[in-house]
Amino acid sequence: MDIDALLAFDRTHLWHPYASMDNPNPVYPVVSANGVRLKLADGRELIDGMASWWSAIHGYNHPVLNQALKTQIDQVSHVMFGGLTHPAAVELGKKLIELTPTPLQTLFYSDSGSVAVEVAMKLALQYWQANGESQRTQFMSLRGGYHGDTLGAMSICDPITGMHSLFSNVLNQQVFVERPGCRFGQPCNDQDIAPFAAALIENKDQLAAVILEPIVQGAGGMWFYSADYLYKVRQLCDQHNVLLIFDEIATGFGRTGQLFACDHANVAPDIMCIGKALTGGYLSLAATLTTKKISDVISENEPGVFMHGPTFMGNPLACSVALASINLLLESDWRQNIADIETGLRTGLSGCQALDHVADVRVLGAIGVIELKQAVDMKSITEQFVQSGIWVRPFGKLVYLMPPYIINQDDLSVLTSTVTSIISNPE
Ligand SMILES: *Cc1c(COP(=O)(O)O)cnc(C)c1O
Repeated sequence: MDIDALLAFDRTHLWHPYASMDNPNPVYPVVSANGVRLKLADGRELIDGMASWWSAIHGYNHPVLNQALKTQIDQVSHVMFGGLTHPAAVELGKKLIELTPTPLQTLFYSDSGSVAVEVAMKLALQYWQANGESQRTQFMSLRGGYHGDTLGAMSICDPITGMHSLFSNVLNQQVFVERPGCRFGQPCNDQDIAPFAAALIENKDQLAAVILEPIVQGAGGMWFYSADYLYKVRQLCDQHNVLLIFDEIATGFGRTGQLFACDHANVAPDIMCIGKALTGGYLSLAATLTTKKISDVISENEPGVFMHGPTFMGNPLACSVALASINLLLESDWRQNIADIETGLRTGLSGCQALDHVADVRVLGAIGVIELKQAVDMKSITEQFVQSGIWVRPFGKLVYLMPPYIINQDDLSVLTSTVTSIISNPE
């Protein structure tokens, strides 16, 4: 393989996420990956601190996940979900309904997190239309939130940190509440929930739903907030008859120390989105779950159907690897693994806390975040990480680690000590 030619083509023709075609940052060619290690074309190996954006929870090239795909591929790789079904979709559906909060009883498959969010929003809109309340067209969400890159999802992302301010004039105007000030582990006092309560009461007649990321806000700021806040949000939505959507796309499948982040507060949403780690990082798959009540109201009133249907809905390969990944997770001692990673991150990153240019260090489950006072030079710091043998990709002021759950303490400590030393001595 001619790596220089490959990189030259990539640079000239392939868009990367949030990147320029004119002045692209370097990209590193991965030729294989195994366990927690990514192998570059020049033979270097990097310890993965990102789990490919929350998804590769079992690491790479896992024999059990590989086998699930090989078995499925010999049966059927894809078949349309309109008018047909198949065992992988049914078995996965059973498992997801069993694992997610009890009120969630119906499930819609889609191919990415953003689409799962669009589906959640459309379900809420159709629910109120079917209820004869078609004036309920707005959504309320939290500042600092991130819900995806499609138009509906963009409209509920933080208008500034959510990366979509460029499009503000074409997006639907939604209602935003300041992000919760009370941190994870702290109580939520009256003044902490007051802005949410006030905005809910003021807008409740126009609101189709409140949508938020439970406990951990991801790409909009990597912020961890009080479980008590989430509990109070659920109470207020019940009290004022507004649907509540949890976006668990980043937090689902153990990352925060509970199987789903909403388990920290022991509350259930009316609609829930999952994605990212669902397939263990192998294929793109997402799902939106709802209560029986919502699916009944939509199905029993005009037009009597839910108006959405992706081409690759319920893809058998994606469903079978998702089922294998979930079983692998549940058969492992995942609570202990996450707790060990949490301890390793706390210890390993504690040295950053005292640095002058560090604003905050926070750890929850298998997520470690260093918030700097200034935005990092992403190109230069990524290069330094790669030269030191780790794969970590910061954004803005945030340098963060969310490794595969299979990482051992030695590799974890290489990650934390390398990050600490590079942040301590910026070039
Ligand atoms: C990543 C993410 C999305 C979007 O998922 P995609 O698969 O990238 O479309 C939505 N919500 C949250 C919380 C996410 O972390």
